[in-house]
Amino acid sequence: KLHNTILELKGNIRVFCRVRPLLRDDGAGTETTVISYPTSTEALGRGIDLIQRGQKYPFTFDKVFTHEASQQDVFIEISQLVQSALDGYKVCIFAYGQTGSGKTYTMMGRPEAPEQKGLIPRSLEQIFQISQSLSAQGWKYKMQASMLEIYNETIRDLLTINRSSGLDMTRIENAAPGKQYSIKHDANGNTYVSDLTIVDVCSIKEISSLLHQAAQSRSVGKTQMNEQSSRSHFVFTLRISGVNESTEQQVQGVLNLIDLAGSERLSKSESTGDRLKETQAINKSLSSLSDVIFALAKKDDHVPFRNSKLTYLLQPCLGGDSKTLMFVNISPEPSSVGESLCSLRFAARVN
Ligand code: ADP
Ligand code: MG
Repeated sequence: KLHNTILELKGNIRVFCRVRPLLRDDGAGTETTVISYPTSTEALGRGIDLIQRGQKYPFTFDKVFTHEASQQDVFIEISQLVQSALDGYKVCIFAYGQTGSGKTYTMMGRPEAPEQKGLIPRSLEQIFQISQSLSAQGWKYKMQASMLEIYNETIRDLLTINRSSGLDMTRIENAAPGKQYSIKHDANGNTYVSDLTIVDVCSIKEISSLLHQAAQSRSVGKTQMNEQSSRSHFVFTLRISGVNESTEQQVQGVLNLIDLAGSERLSKSESTGDRLKETQAINKSLSSLSDVIFALAKKDDHVPFRNSKLTYLLQPCLGGDSKTLMFVNISPEPSSVGESLCSLRFAARVN
């Protein structure tokens, strides 16, 4: 209850910062540290200082996770937010940051190692567990999942490519490459993406198989895998319809879990051709997202949802009484300090 009150006071938008540990292959110069954490009572667990060329840049967020935070530590802080989707709330959780800062680790984690599972598998497990325990009180839930990618302002369905999983597909379409999926909102605030595959899911096992499928089909162009996924936004959506068989009460919740494209700026050598086009599309959608969240936080009358596919897609889940959480992921490498400063400034604007 207290948690919800805090959300309402903050206009339902919160920002968490997470710093990943230094990795073995982060390279030379890693012995200098560019990040410190204030220990004053008011900033404890909420502050982060970035040091660039001897200058200290302090930031405060709703929560700061140091490199020591485990996946479970992070999940504990979002589990109530996730659970509110079962109460009929529309929830969006984003991961923002430069490529290599830990967005995918935070969202998806390493599914093969249980303690390193990310927020998506943990959230889904929790939702299934709680929905099952609520059946004792007469609640029956129907869950539907979809997964898409937005690349260069074009939507790609991640569930059309490999259908060998034997799951019950409610809509089966042969998606031709380059097909335009169009986004529509109805009067009830539901979103439809034309021809998008929507899958009824009844168990965690089915969801795991879907996530696996989506990971395999997440590819754009012909460059290496990590490269590809870093240039597109990944959107996982779980629609939850609940009905209570004794009270006839109904709820419709949505959980959107979004691994955003890398926020890094273009290097000079890349400022031509496809790469330039990609970066312009990414910049456009990330700045639209920031504009939208900023306008919502200020309670502006005009919120520019239509400026990008991403914000238009998520429109019903960002306004109103929906709940939004943004992770800003930070790499501790000294060579990334410039990008880290940009990321923290971006996050501070929406916070
Ligand atoms: P991004 O998705 O932002 O490009 P990744 O999630 O792929 O970044 O992270 C880059 C690398 O750092 C990966 O090898 C990932 O496993 C590792 N990593 C990221 N965050 C953590 C963390 N909190 N603990 C351990 N390893 C991490
Ligand atoms: Mg990634």
